[in-house]
Amino acid sequence: MKIGFIGLGQMGSAMAANLLKAGHDVTVWNRSADKAAKLVEAGAHLAEKPVDAAQGEVVMTMLADDRALEAVVYGEGGIQGAPALHVSHSTIGIALADRLAADAGNGFVSAPVFGRPVAAEAAKLFVIAAGAPADLDRCEPLFAAIGQRTFRIGETPSAANLVKLSGNFMIMAAVEAMAEAMTLAEKGGVDRRTLLDVLTGTLFGAPIYQTYGDILVEDRFHPAGFAAPLGLKDMTLADTAATTLCAPMPILGIVRDHIRSVIASEGEDVDWAGVALAVRRGAGIA
Ligand code: NAP
Repeated sequence: MKIGFIGLGQMGSAMAANLLKAGHDVTVWNRSADKAAKLVEAGAHLAEKPVDAAQGEVVMTMLADDRALEAVVYGEGGIQGAPALHVSHSTIGIALADRLAADAGNGFVSAPVFGRPVAAEAAKLFVIAAGAPADLDRCEPLFAAIGQRTFRIGETPSAANLVKLSGNFMIMAAVEAMAEAMTLAEKGGVDRRTLLDVLTGTLFGAPIYQTYGDILVEDRFHPAGFAAPLGLKDMTLADTAATTLCAPMPILGIVRDHIRSVIASEGEDVDWAGVALAVRRGAGIA
């Protein structure tokens, strides 16, 4: 299929590479053009402007946040009005997804993903997709090239973003709970690995505890796989949704403050699992 891919950060570059590997004819665009070099070497075409990547059947976007996506859609050389179906993978807010759906002349699909860059490289993402059924059907081969499973959750695109924000909140709540339990154990003389092995080997065998548990045990916070500022963005988007829908989320406030705290102490290139550092500091251990 002739497609475009916009946004070649940690996630997007891996996703675009898998689309190429699956045999699609891919045109790429990134704000910093140097990040496209490897993909061009592998056979991708380089677009000069975002709109040049949106002349085929589908254009997929994977950008940092609402502001970045707005710039690529509505800014100079943006994809608004271009012939391609827009498939948005970025983790964005509900209001922007609703606006993009209302404005899109040629269809709009929201398809945020679960999975870190390692999963993106291995084409093992989970794709949460919402939009018109015919548009979702057209995207199936593309989703199959980047992910291990696609969940269709309805015709309103922003519903996929609500699921994604809810999921990211639950990841952070799980990381916060693990960090607190590990800190408690460590202060009592039980090392983190021992605690994690018991918990994941008994009642907490879910992938989230295994993936993030290892990160916490091994202190793998630098370089960031999922940067804390992006995590803070997601918690803020979840909070906006909670305010709009009047759904109290007290735990959200705690994890958001811990992300702020770790960015303040470590800088921006720290993984969001670094909330564990804020928890440990609060308990008086380094
Ligand atoms: P990243 O490595 O920081 O890449 C961000 C991308 O957005 C880059 O291509 C960057 O371009 C572009 N960008 C930023 N501001 C821009 C602007 N104003 N105009 C145009 N382009 C702009 O981020 P990532 O980790 O790939 O994450 C991308 C999205 O996926 C985010 O919404 C994130 O929340 C979501 N996500 C991430 C993960 C993860 O584990 N990393 C997992 C699931 C979902 P430059 O190269 O020019 O800076």
